[in-house]
Amino acid sequence: MAEKGRAAVLVADRKFEIREFPTPEVDPEGILVSVTGGGVCGSDLHIWRGEINMHNFILGHELVGRVHSLGKNVSTDYLQKPLKEGDRVIFSYWTPCHRCYQCIRGEYTDCLYNFQGFKSIEEYPYCHGGFADYYYLQPGTFVFKVESDLSDEVLTSVNCAAGTVMEGIERSNIQGGDAVVFQGAGGLGMYGMTYARERGAGVIIAIDGQQPRLDLALQCGADYAININEFPNPEDRVAKVKELVGGGRTGADTVVEVVGYPGVVPEGLDMLRPGGKYIEIGCIWPNAMATIDMEKVLHGIRHIVPVSFYRPQLLPTAIEMLERTKDKYPLTKLMSHTFSLEDINKAFETSEWSGQDRKTAVTRAVIKP
Ligand SMILES: [Zn+2]
Ligand SMILES: [Zn+2]
Repeated sequence: MAEKGRAAVLVADRKFEIREFPTPEVDPEGILVSVTGGGVCGSDLHIWRGEINMHNFILGHELVGRVHSLGKNVSTDYLQKPLKEGDRVIFSYWTPCHRCYQCIRGEYTDCLYNFQGFKSIEEYPYCHGGFADYYYLQPGTFVFKVESDLSDEVLTSVNCAAGTVMEGIERSNIQGGDAVVFQGAGGLGMYGMTYARERGAGVIIAIDGQQPRLDLALQCGADYAININEFPNPEDRVAKVKELVGGGRTGADTVVEVVGYPGVVPEGLDMLRPGGKYIEIGCIWPNAMATIDMEKVLHGIRHIVPVSFYRPQLLPTAIEMLERTKDKYPLTKLMSHTFSLEDINKAFETSEWSGQDRKTAVTRAVIKP
């Protein structure tokens, strides 16, 4: 435990402090990662605002890094590729217990203990968050060697934004030509649109309140963009979606909620055709209340599908997609701003979108320790 690393601790709402922590002894099956980039995710913003109380935590869960030290029993990644110190890796930011009813069924996303890595700074091994020099991969964390030369900026969002929204698209089971609506054109929305496009979707519609994001969405797979400032009434947004989906549909086949605001759920359900799927991803904090007419859900045959976490194979799938489509979509532009660890407070203030109308889109800020 000779070494020490810096980490940004959330000490109060909207306030980080940089502190030093000893690096942990690495378990025989664990890996200590040297962080090379951590993205500011919408979830981090919810916590930073105080919507989820996590004072004295090191935030940051979407990140990429290099192997700093390997546990003595670890010699490969989860695809049997040899691992050594210095290798660049991506990994799930959650760790299933591998010892519960859900896990033995292979339903890792539903493991009750997935959040065991989210601990306060008082708890060993301290390196629980990505806005830090080091991040600890507990035994059982899915880890994959990165052989691509994609930049760290591109890779930071793979283990949260990309993986999660790709899981949503998988669970929607979209068919070739399907009409898909994204409520929200931030990082998740952008990755979702490109994945839906690559997965064979037909009409893709992006809804957001920031025009620069919508402009980027149109380059990331979306066919149409609806700016809520031009369509302030939910009824008008629903009507516009129904007009755009085409193909004899009365609504979208899939609507993906990636705004993180429960107020959009009723209109999202109204945008669906009978039998359509509503993929719920964004409302991650407690008491995210929405008033839903369940009769409309029942007789409208709307399927509400929750998505938290992702099947681990989507991580290498995401890298493959990013590599293959790097000249097709400007996904490399998603990481729009870079900050040092010392400037983390500024990074969050710059990323805050709630209640703001921006001229330049901050789709994702990345912290480079
Ligand atoms: Zn996230
Ligand atoms: Zn489990």
